[in-house]
Amino acid sequence: MFYGFDVGGTKIEFGAFDDNLNRVATERVATPGDDYNALIEAVAGIIEKYDAQFGAEGKVGLGIPGIERAEDATVLTVNVPAAKGRTLRLDLEKRIGRSVSLNNDANCFALSEAWDEELKNAKTVLGCILGTGFGGGIIVNGKVVNGKNNVAGELGHMRLPIDAWFLLGENAPLFDCGCDKKGCIDNYLSGRGFEQLYEHYYGEKKKAVDIIEAHKQGEANAVEHVDRFMELLAMCMGGLFTAFDPEVVVLGGGLSNFDLIYDELPKRVPKYLLSIANPPKIVKAKHGDAGGVRGAAFLNI
Ligand SMILES: [Zn+2]
Repeated sequence: MFYGFDVGGTKIEFGAFDDNLNRVATERVATPGDDYNALIEAVAGIIEKYDAQFGAEGKVGLGIPGIERAEDATVLTVNVPAAKGRTLRLDLEKRIGRSVSLNNDANCFALSEAWDEELKNAKTVLGCILGTGFGGGIIVNGKVVNGKNNVAGELGHMRLPIDAWFLLGENAPLFDCGCDKKGCIDNYLSGRGFEQLYEHYYGEKKKAVDIIEAHKQGEANAVEHVDRFMELLAMCMGGLFTAFDPEVVVLGGGLSNFDLIYDELPKRVPKYLLSIANPPKIVKAKHGDAGGVRGAAFLNI
């Protein structure tokens, strides 16, 4: 039995999966605000409840919007204040008397998609989330690649490539990033970036869905904006494809519902790749909001 917890800012979602990876239980509780013990107890309580129900000790995986520091296992997170700076994995292990896996929620998203029935034979799967930010995860042979500092897959904090300098023009915007730097692709390729870029070039705040609708209607600014955005996305993705050469790229997050991406990327990416490289298959995520729980559970496969 595999237990997955998606620990978010407002709720903790739990899922239990049997050995065939079918979901057999679901539960949702509120995330305790900043009470660390209450957080540990909430998770431990669910584990004990389902252990009793299944008559077995499930393997436990946690997905969080944050990163575990490699040196001391403390958690770096903004969205889950109770876990901030705490050794969440180690303390939960002590509380329940078994090992726990913990990983970033974007890695869990990628892992969940990589274990999809249609993709599980792909050797390398790259998951990219075009949501509030631009996140991702690298899955090789069904496992998350974490790297030395657990930051592998933090794709949003890669730098804009030189091609972007020419594309964005003399009036190129230099957006601030949450990591205190400027020029991270997080602020350009995300849904937020899509809106920020529009505002920068046209001086008008517009929601992504409205820009996409205007694009459908053939409105000139929206058409120009989308063309520029697709090229920016293609050049950044091209760098990622060269670095990881994945068989499949799975896109998630709000902006991944913009279907034009799946037509445009295959056309625009090849010029940023080595001549012998073919672009990977680019598909939309299938597991949506359930991805976090699935991925957390599958950390122990
Ligand atoms: Zn950054």
